[in-house]
Amino acid sequence: MAQILDGKGFAKKIQANLKEKIAQIQPQMGRPPGLAVLMVGDNPASAAYVRNKERSCERVGIASFGKHFPADVSQAELEAVIQALNVDERVDGILVQLPLPDHLDSVGLLLTIAPEKDADGLHPLNLGHLVRSEPGLRSCTPYGVMALLQEYDVPLAGKKAVVVGRSILVGKPLALMLLDANATVTIAHSRTADLAAVTRDADILVAAVGRPEFITADMIKPGAIAIDVGINRVENPDTGKARLVGDIAFDAAEKVASYITPVPGGIGPMTVAMLLQNTFHSYEAKLS
Ligand code: NDP
Repeated sequence: MAQILDGKGFAKKIQANLKEKIAQIQPQMGRPPGLAVLMVGDNPASAAYVRNKERSCERVGIASFGKHFPADVSQAELEAVIQALNVDERVDGILVQLPLPDHLDSVGLLLTIAPEKDADGLHPLNLGHLVRSEPGLRSCTPYGVMALLQEYDVPLAGKKAVVVGRSILVGKPLALMLLDANATVTIAHSRTADLAAVTRDADILVAAVGRPEFITADMIKPGAIAIDVGINRVENPDTGKARLVGDIAFDAAEKVASYITPVPGGIGPMTVAMLLQNTFHSYEAKLS
């Protein structure tokens, strides 16, 4: 049976550590760190994520400057709000909760965020730093995957890593981070031929696909490390109740892999922990 990579437990440790560091430097700074999460519309999953982020902020002592906009808010109004937050000295991090309604240009909004307040690490400048292996704010989900692998001393150098999914949010930045850790990286996607043969070759297999239990046990090399980024809400037709499942068929996969992340309790909490950490870094950077 695979060992569980306990993202929830590690995220708690990171939060406790941040809480301590914030308490230590707050007297010098004269204010707590601040994070502004901007949410548009009423997508229930997004609302749950935003609530979760704000609660986590509260737990560690980060002030929330969240704003909630109606689904028909204009691009110009959002850009004006971001510009105001860019110059608001109480705010260290700004995050636009994705996805956005179709009439909004998310790239345009990301470009409006001051790169040093880009808590989600998705501004092209920060992505450029990642491509160049330079320091910069890193996107939270892939950064969370890397932090969890490091916590469990999973060796990466020389290993074959396969990332299924090539989004700018997860797949691409994660592939670059694994490459920086000297893994030999393959990115697979919906046009990959014979996906199962590709995934079976992986020492480290990451699923960031967005399809419930898409990666089955026969697609995993025995002893591989299986990282499940997917969060899918699946409704039970009998009870009408929804539950969260990952992109990996966990019950069978844990019999094949050597390490595996659960859903929930794996990469989700690590993503939030990295968001808080990024906000803290931007805050701390103002000390010098
Ligand atoms: P996207 O929809 O942007 O990307 C999905 C990727 O999966 C695409 O690159 C797509 O390929 C690939 N894909 C789709 N179908 C197949 C297939 N049949 N075979 C191989 N590849 C396929 O999703 P995200 O990257 O934004 O998110 C992925 C998952 O991670 C989702 O479940 C999301 O909810 C979750 N997530 C979790 C987070 C967390 O905090 N844990 C944070 C962010 C996301 P192609 O490019 O060819 O279309």
